Amino acid sequence: MKIICVGRNYASHIEELDNEKPADPVLFMKPNTSIIPKDQPFVIPEFSKDIHYEVELLIKICKNGKFIEPQFAKNYYQEIGLGIDFTARDLQTKLKKAGLPWEKAKAFDRSACIGQRWLPVEDSDVNDTHFSLQLNGQVVQSDTTAKMLWKVDELITYISRYFTLNKGDVIFTGTLKGVGKVAENDQLKGFIQDRLMFDINVK
Ligand code: ZN
Repeated sequence: MKIICVGRNYASHIEELDNEKPADPVLFMKPNTSIIPKDQPFVIPEFSKDIHYEVELLIKICKNGKFIEPQFAKNYYQEIGLGIDFTARDLQTKLKKAGLPWEKAKAFDRSACIGQRWLPVEDSDVNDTHFSLQLNGQVVQSDTTAKMLWKVDELITYISRYFTLNKGDVIFTGTLKGVGKVAENDQLKGFIQDRLMFDINVK
């Protein structure tokens, strides 16, 4: 399986990092070695002094497709989840300035938290689903997917022009404002509406 991530998909987060609103979705990938094993903590890597959490709605692809037309995009997912796109912000800022790819800052070992729980799409409107992140019991990120610049179906159409989607692939759909630094012994809990989707510690 592969993980395709969307950058800059919420205006509120673009503003907080002082980025420009892109004309097209920004895409990058994480390899399967980036996935945090079940019940394991996130481990701060030695090469960064500024690891950020980014909570994101996840889409699990349920069948193979390429050049997926917008009106058929719905047929390619049945479950939504929640995860964290852990980002070495100090390294990413350096790479961005130099015009270099982001992989070292975004795709390192254990940079992808994928919640174990998945919810059927019928249970909520994927275009208006509230999700949030708690850091040590305090809400730090909270908003609805209604604020996405590119909706889930548009993302599937766009991504599949470049990358064949396979059953089991996961799309990280972008983060909200409120990203911030993690420290050792932090606890991060993600919610879709009031449902706990993951609970992870930082080591
Ligand atoms: Zn992200």
